[in-house]
Amino acid sequence: MRVSNMMLKTLREVPAEAETVSHQLMLRAAMMRKMAAGIYSFLPLGLRTLHKVEQIVREEMDAAGAQELLMPAILPAEYYQESGRWDVFGPEMFRLKDRGARDFCLGPTHEEIFTQIVKGEVSSYRQLPLTLYQIQTKYRDERRPRFGVMRSREFIMKDAYSFDRDEKGLDVSYQKMYKAYCNAFKRMGLDFIVVDADSGAMGGSGSQEFMVKSESGEDTVAYCEACGYAANDEKAACVPEKMAKEEPKELKKIHTPKAGTIEELVDFLHTDEKHFAKTLLYAADGKTVAVMVRGDREVNETKLANLLGANELALAEADVVVEVTGARVGFAGPIGLPVPVYCDLEVAEMSNFIVGANESDYHYENVNMKDFTPEVIADLRTITEGDVCPRCGKPVSTTRGVEVGHIFKLGTKYTEALDCTYLDENGAATKIVMGCYGIGINRTLAAVIEQNNDENGIIWPVSVAPYQAVVVPVNGTNEEQMALAEDIYKKLQKNGIEVLLDDRNERPGVKFKDADLIGIPVRITVGKKASEGIVEYKLRQEEAATDLAIEEAIKEACAYIQTALQFEREE
Ligand code: ATP
Ligand code: MG
Repeated sequence: MRVSNMMLKTLREVPAEAETVSHQLMLRAAMMRKMAAGIYSFLPLGLRTLHKVEQIVREEMDAAGAQELLMPAILPAEYYQESGRWDVFGPEMFRLKDRGARDFCLGPTHEEIFTQIVKGEVSSYRQLPLTLYQIQTKYRDERRPRFGVMRSREFIMKDAYSFDRDEKGLDVSYQKMYKAYCNAFKRMGLDFIVVDADSGAMGGSGSQEFMVKSESGEDTVAYCEACGYAANDEKAACVPEKMAKEEPKELKKIHTPKAGTIEELVDFLHTDEKHFAKTLLYAADGKTVAVMVRGDREVNETKLANLLGANELALAEADVVVEVTGARVGFAGPIGLPVPVYCDLEVAEMSNFIVGANESDYHYENVNMKDFTPEVIADLRTITEGDVCPRCGKPVSTTRGVEVGHIFKLGTKYTEALDCTYLDENGAATKIVMGCYGIGINRTLAAVIEQNNDENGIIWPVSVAPYQAVVVPVNGTNEEQMALAEDIYKKLQKNGIEVLLDDRNERPGVKFKDADLIGIPVRITVGKKASEGIVEYKLRQEEAATDLAIEEAIKEACAYIQTALQFEREE
């Protein structure tokens, strides 16, 4: 491709609306442009990279024996109504009506639709196992679309679904997808970890997420160097810190004016956070509940929602807190509270602690478990650095991660809801056992950029780069340089290299800046030494450039690119 013919308006300034590096660079490198919040157009350069990610995923799915098909994005409500998810999805689902006022949605995920297809096509145990997938556009009206295509409202997902006779079969299909995911992400050069994940609203018996380590990740992952345990912090089990049990002292109400936050209380009472239990009110599917955790801990809303079986969960509004507690916000406590109290395991370890008194400017001290009656005592807090590993007891570390893929043992949730059965060897109708497996294509692309960049721009791994090499004549008006550059360009093309020729009549600085910004792995610069048959060879990921004879530079570029594309698939 000749750069002079490209639509490539790179930006020198960092766009103000972009917070993460990948978002900034995707805009600056003219990969995409915003159409609306969380909705982007992919421009030529961006689309090439998107196709590369797609193709790697496709090849790994095919190698694992999955078959590709394509479902519509616009889907009738009935299948989601049958599974119950028409309601569960709530406002995240884009809904529309056709001219006959029939309900449709833009597919947020396709479990129901694949189940429906398999129900029609599969009848015998002989047709199983089966893994089907598509690479297709999904729609989710996210509450907070952000970070460009990392959390967008329209995005491309590879979604696969496995269909097996039984749980044992599912285990095998799941394992194949696990390996296919590892292979795909390795081919893209990603540094990732696989973590246990919350199964959430999807139900099912187990799930894992593929997390790309990155500061801009929205997820936190806890992992243990000692035993290899790794889990999303939504899921990671917390071990209560042991605290010395004290003899209960006399319960006392104390005046704590203006101490409505833990920090203010710590200052006021000259003690530390571990001596408080905070009580937070939540609205869970419209009902108010209270949750207690130690003062220095955070409530884990995923664990809470799972415990309550709640679909919608959020902190209660201030006016509800005032009404329920009879006090200003900041003075809630478990004693005499007229709503059910869900208490974290660690609170049960505490003695003589401090809680809000449900009265403005008052707390209770010397509170013990005997002073109130929790509905349930359970693991309701979020793991943090300094906690111990729930598996081996050694300290855990935490890191931020971007969830690029999710694999899931679904079981029979959807095949039961949609009555999808097969006839076994004895002719008995049996529910098919399912797994589902997603990769966010655009988000994965952004994650590759998050891990591969410097102050000058993107540093594409060869496998994902929009073009593998760029030839830059330094002086666009020098005929000798231009002819030589043209010649190298053609030879690289003949060798199957995806190559750019920057034939624009621009200053060399502009061309170098753009080549760096758009992250092309190999650069061959044709400059003053062209007449001696010497060019400059430089890799984007290295500082240094070397002078090479023309033919050598071409050979070197081909060898480098071919080596970088080689990949040993783990079976
Ligand atoms: P998240 O917790 O980030 O919202 P999810 O659990 O809703 O993700 P899944 O339903 O498992 O995601 O979807 C499969 C994959 O699709 C995810 O692993 C992610 O890579 C991608 N994905 C999900 N939501 C989005 C989004 N809004 N924008 C871009 N990619 C997404
Ligand atoms: Mg989501």
